[in-house]
Parts: sequence; C-alpha cells; structure tokens
Amino acid sequence: MKLTLPASILALLSSQVFTYDRADDRPNLVFVFPDQMRSSLQGFLGEEPVITPNIDRFANEGLVLTQAVSNAPVSSPYRAMLLTGMYAISNGVVTNCTNKAGEYGIELKENARCWSDILHEKGYNLGYIGKWHLDAPHEPYIPCSNNTGDIKWNEWTPPDRRHGFDYWYSYGTYDQHLKPMYWSTNAPRDSFRYVNQWGPEHEADMAIRYIRNEQGKLRDKKKPFALVVSMNPPHMPYEQVPEKYVRMYDSKGAEIEAMFHHPAVADTSNRWGKYYRKNIKNQLAMVTGVDEQFGRILEELRKAGIDKNTIVVFTSDHGDCLGKHGMISKSNPYEESMHVPFIIRWPGTIEPGRDSLLFSVPDIYPTLLGLMGFEHDIPYTVEGTNFKKLFTGEKDINRPTSQLYFITDGQLFSPPAGVKGDILTTSERGVRTNRYTLCIRRGPDNNKTTYLWDRWIDPMQLHNISNTNAGIVKELVAKELLPWLKKTGDGWLE
Ligand code: CA
Repeated sequence: MKLTLPASILALLSSQVFTYDRADDRPNLVFVFPDQMRSSLQGFLGEEPVITPNIDRFANEGLVLTQAVSNAPVSSPYRAMLLTGMYAISNGVVTNCTNKAGEYGIELKENARCWSDILHEKGYNLGYIGKWHLDAPHEPYIPCSNNTGDIKWNEWTPPDRRHGFDYWYSYGTYDQHLKPMYWSTNAPRDSFRYVNQWGPEHEADMAIRYIRNEQGKLRDKKKPFALVVSMNPPHMPYEQVPEKYVRMYDSKGAEIEAMFHHPAVADTSNRWGKYYRKNIKNQLAMVTGVDEQFGRILEELRKAGIDKNTIVVFTSDHGDCLGKHGMISKSNPYEESMHVPFIIRWPGTIEPGRDSLLFSVPDIYPTLLGLMGFEHDIPYTVEGTNFKKLFTGEKDINRPTSQLYFITDGQLFSPPAGVKGDILTTSERGVRTNRYTLCIRRGPDNNKTTYLWDRWIDPMQLHNISNTNAGIVKELVAKELLPWLKKTGDGWLE
C-alpha cells in the first residue's frame, strides 16, 4: 500500500530532518580561512579584477579590518599563533612543520592552551575541516605526494593533539587540490582517504553536513559549536582549479593583461614575470571558487536559522607575491605576503563597517573569547589583545601603533631561543605601522640588511629608503620593534 501524506506534513517532516534546537543561546563560531589569500584578492576593495560576490556581500554585513596582517606570513607559524594567541617565538612554531623542523621539536605544543581547548571545556562541540599543518612528519612517513622529497610535509594528527576538536576531517599539508586527502575523526594514521573533488568544494560540503548535523551524529545538538574550515586554495599549484571558475575570467583578459604591467611585476622575460603571467588568472579563479564555497557555508547558516547567533570570520594565513617583487610566494614583508583579509560578522552585536586597526594574528584568540563571553578564561600566556570593545562599537580604545613582522626562512630555520641547533639561514624581524614597513634581514653570515618602505608614498614597496632615512629606522627600532621583541622574549637584536 502506498502511503500518501499531505504536502504540509511532508514539509514538516523534511524540516525536522535537521534540528537546530539548543539548550543555551551562546553563539556558534564558524572560522573560514583559505591558504595564501592576500588582502587585495577581495573584490570589494577594487584592487585586483577578482570576482568575489559572497565576500563582497559578507563585507557589507560585517566588520572589515582593513589592516590585518599575518605577523609570521607562512603556514604553520600563522596556525600556531591563531590557536595559541602567542607570537611565533613564544609558541615555538617559528617555521613550517616539516620533518626537518620536527628534529627541533617545532610543532604545536601538546600543552599549549588553545582557544579550542577552552571552548571544549565550556561545553562546545568543535569541528576542524581541512589543512592543519601543525604536526611534524615522522618516520615511517605517510606515503603521499607531499612526502616524496627530502623535506616531508604531511602528517596525521593523533586525537590527543587536536586541542579540543572532537570532529576531525583534516590533513597536515597536501597540495593536490583536485584529489585531496583527509583523515576523519576516528581514522588511524594509516587510514586516510582520497576524494575526487576540488578541496574547497568538498570541505564546504563537509561543513554543510556539520552545520546540518546529519542524522544527529556529527555533534551534540544541544551544544553550541565552533567550526574551522581551512581551505588550501588559492595556494599553489594554481592550475588545479575547476575550469568553470577559470572561464569566468575569459571576459577579463584586458584587466589581467594590465596587471602584467604592474611595476612590481618583473619583466616578462624574467622568470618571476613569467611565473606571474602563467598563474595569475588561475589564482583569481581559485579565489572565486573559494568565494563560492564560502557563500554556500553562509547560505547553510541562514537556512538553518542560526546565522544571527553565529560569529563568522573570514581571513587567511598569509598572502603571496606570485612573482611580484621577485618573490614567488610569502615569507617576506611585502603587502602581498603579509596583508590579509579579516572580516567578522555577528549580526546585532558586531558593528558592520570598516576599521584600520593594526590587528595581529594573536589578537584573534582573546578577541573571539571576549566576544563569546569567556574573557575571564583567557590564559596569561596569550600575548594578543582582546579588541571586543572595538568590535562591538566602542571606537575610542587604545590602539597599537605597529604590528610585529617575524620570519625564518621557509623550510629551514633559526632555532628559537633555548633550542640547541644550527643557525641555518636568513631570518627577519620588523614592524609594520600605518605608514611604514621596516624589515631587518640577517643572513647566514650574520650581516644585517635594513629595508624601509613608506607605503603612504610608495604603496607598492618599490623603493627601499632605509639609507636616506636612518632617523626613521632608528625611531622605529627603538619605539616599535624593540618593545615587540621584549614583549615576546626574542633576543634577536641583542
Ligand atoms: Ca599557508
């Protein structure tokens, strides 16, 4: 016998597939951060011919911090700062987590007190989807493409190193965007899976499933949740992007051609110029893809009826130069590398608008906990500042006058203070103010080179004026850089 139900009852039943009832009204958190998305890749800024309708709309609904930076613009250091609220020298993750760094114990400390640990203790469910990159690979190495060279990148994260994230769909570092790999919550180390789907699209699917809490199995529906979605694109390899997003730029040929003549782009006969020409369209397409997937997550929050009670953040771990300034990626003090998006939305609580606060990565932790009502639970180890007051409309606050810049070279590193090891390569310290970027670079021979850019008159950072402005350098070192180094216990200049 076929049972036929009236449409109204069917609708009622289908609406009950996903239930969002909750025991308390504490806010959820959804934190989305693609990898390697420089600030200028936000369409609403009008700086690059990039198509980002969802980010543009989100920017109108939220607070846009127009001067947010990645203080140590490379993957693992950003991620450790984000989770610990400590600067790189303090949390120990001074460079990327690889097998080489692992020999010096450079990975997220098990005893670090992360914001996710606190939310877990406060009764939140926590989900992590996408790239983690905070564990150093060890033997026998995970057999995958990012572990075939001398430097190994990818590693599983054991449950006791997940810092409160009880739902897990993640990997360490894996750069095959069209066939990404993941470990799920209960998967042992040798049990990862490959997926034939573009990473951000698949991760948005998984985020949507988490928000829907399909079959009530992904989280406790009575608890609030915090979900991190860490997408890999627009990270290289840039050609690994669905064609549909590339086609959207076919009509933008002239605008893209004009970008080839940007003064920071090297001559096209130069390898950096060639690199830029080869990759820029695909990178723009990747951002459009990320935008679309971010839009799907936002739409799911709306459909679930929880968008008003969910704090949503969109940011990135760092940018990249893509051949500008003779640099192919990040780990440098150019705006393309350091300057990142930061947009936060919480309807009714966070004032929409724009603010030029000199916001730093360690500020994210105390500010989020502050907003969520846990400011008394922020541990003293946190070095960032709680900007809750500013976010909720109080503009008259003490504002930082600079942001710290810190780098050790990509895969190699100078060991942090107290760690025994070789001084292997260049390292840099500096500050970024509203006007200036200062960078002091120390090479393997210990020689120092100083860079100073006046971004008010040289926004593209084409002219190093340190030689003719020794007074400004001296003042920035004394009033900005040294206090930062002191605050973070960094003896680099001594
Ligand atoms: Ca990265």
